[in-house]
Amino acid sequence: MLEMKEKCETCETPLAADGVAYICTFECTFCEPCTENVHQGVCPNCGGKLVSRPVKKES
Ligand SMILES: [Zn+2]
Ligand SMILES: [Zn+2]
Repeated sequence: MLEMKEKCETCETPLAADGVAYICTFECTFCEPCTENVHQGVCPNCGGKLVSRPVKKES
């Protein structure tokens, strides 16, 4: 199970569980603007690749 972190580790923007977010393999979590513009797809904590977090559809 993924731990659903609630905010971006860079800018602390709140991230909705069903919204767009990016994570690395160690579950560092970032918002889309930080991932694309600041980190350019690479986790600043561990150097891992950031990928879009799967969204769990409840509907
Ligand atoms: Zn951010
Ligand atoms: Zn990481």
